[in-house]
Amino acid sequence: MVVDIIVVGGGISGMSAAYDAYKSGKSVIVLEARDRVGGRTYTIDTESGGRSDVGGAWINEFTQPNITKLAKEAGIPIIRQSIHGTAVIERTKNKIQTYEDHGTFELEEGMPEEDRLDEKRVVALLDELCELVDIEEPWKCERAEEFDSISFLGWLNSVGASQATKNGMASFIRCLFALELNDVSFLYTLHYFVCGGGYESLASNDSRGGQYQRMREGSMRVSEYIVTKLPKRSVKLSSPVQAVSQEGDICTVVTRAGAIYTSSAIICTIPSPLYSTITWSPMLPIKKRCYGQRSYMGACTKVVMIYDRPWWREAGYSGLGMSLVGPITQTMDTSDGEWKSSDPTLAPRQYSLSCFPMANFAIEYARLPQEERILSIKQHVARLFPSHAAEAMEPYQVLEQQWLNEEFSAGAPVPVLGCGALTAIGEEWRTPHGRIFFAGTEMATKWKGYMDGAVSAGQQAVADVLKVLPVKKALVNGVNGTH
Ligand SMILES: Cc1cc2nc3c(=O)[nH]c(=O)nc-3n(C[C@H](O)[C@H](O)[C@H](O)COP(=O)(O)OP(=O)(O)OC[C@H]3O[C@@H](n4cnc5c(N)ncnc54)[C@H](O)[C@@H]3O)c2cc1C
Repeated sequence: MVVDIIVVGGGISGMSAAYDAYKSGKSVIVLEARDRVGGRTYTIDTESGGRSDVGGAWINEFTQPNITKLAKEAGIPIIRQSIHGTAVIERTKNKIQTYEDHGTFELEEGMPEEDRLDEKRVVALLDELCELVDIEEPWKCERAEEFDSISFLGWLNSVGASQATKNGMASFIRCLFALELNDVSFLYTLHYFVCGGGYESLASNDSRGGQYQRMREGSMRVSEYIVTKLPKRSVKLSSPVQAVSQEGDICTVVTRAGAIYTSSAIICTIPSPLYSTITWSPMLPIKKRCYGQRSYMGACTKVVMIYDRPWWREAGYSGLGMSLVGPITQTMDTSDGEWKSSDPTLAPRQYSLSCFPMANFAIEYARLPQEERILSIKQHVARLFPSHAAEAMEPYQVLEQQWLNEEFSAGAPVPVLGCGALTAIGEEWRTPHGRIFFAGTEMATKWKGYMDGAVSAGQQAVADVLKVLPVKKALVNGVNGTH
């Protein structure tokens, strides 16, 4: 089959690319490895008739226009994150502190004054350093070599951060990357902050931040919606791509099952740690290969505990819980509706707390047998909300998604780079290879790592492809012409 553009990967980035390409008059085929679209967004129907995301979930209509536009076009109601009530923090096992949830990641709450001041000092320093980082070419910024030669932990040590500040930042980085402080290059971290509008924007759950809203029907619905807008049979599920070759202007793609597709261009949207799972002919350029080799995903698990009643809301908790002890790093209320909304179309159909074992906690968690894993989550939720421990132990449905076990994601939520990689190979991070263009959220410079970045990267790749695809010959008044 010959088309203008083959899109490899049917996550949000690939589906957005396919939609834009189709709207630009190009014929397009999406080859998706899984038996569903959506990739790192994955929505499951709950027993109560609700919807629950076990992958990417949060958006912000004010700061993330690309994903919001698609969600609205798809007619998906957008609900606000519940931030009202009391949040809980566990710094030491069984010692639960509480504070009024203001919709921000406030690990300094309840700490001694000198620790609070130190955390403020470090966040202010981070904001200052973000100013130095060029969003398009971070490897060229002043002090790039220095920042890329140390991990985030190395930098915290270099500015004399207190242990309490390091603990707080470790918890934040576990939520952000599902990795530990010493796993990620400091330059990469700064660039990621800049792409997401800064520390406060990434860390907030109110109207300023990345965790402000969710889609009531789940994020996967966006990709499912795009399938309905494309011509029938444009999306080939269960079609993992095995080989990609290009000769002159012709690209050929072969799937594991041996199906062959030909096109004038390819948009590859798979996460970079998976580049090496495809045989490229000719081989990808050396820096592109090294980019794939040196980027990796974190250990990210999401466990959704679904209850018959929102007992935490009734008891005055917002549902936000944080722990430095594990296995859970963070809990969030992920009921699929708005609390006490007067709009019946926003009423919750399921009441849930999403629990995130992240980074090293997720690795230890994964080693347990399934029953013990779920028991450990129940017990931890009971520990975080001791006044309602009995209710916490009795979810009627539990959804568990361990992203490390996913062959076609290799972890989650986003590929990151360790020390030295960005300065050594960053310049080939987004460059095309002949007729092969690269998308996926990690190619975005705004909200890289997020659904919004996935959409914009897909759309950017189409814009780049359109610059090189031959202008089609069309019949104008019976004469061959161009338009
Ligand atoms: C638990 C979790 C929480 C998150 N939270 C948020 C959040 O709150 N807000 C937010 O905005 N983002 C969040 N994210 C991140 C967000 O989900 C991703 O940034 C986004 O979905 C990435 O989209 P993508 O299309 O770039 O990549 P993917 O979704 O990874 O799509 C790539 C596609 O390629 C396919 N593929 C892989 N290999 C092959 C192959 N060989 N052949 C064919 N197809 C292949 C995969 O199956 C996949 O469908 C979260 C992610 C996770 C997992």
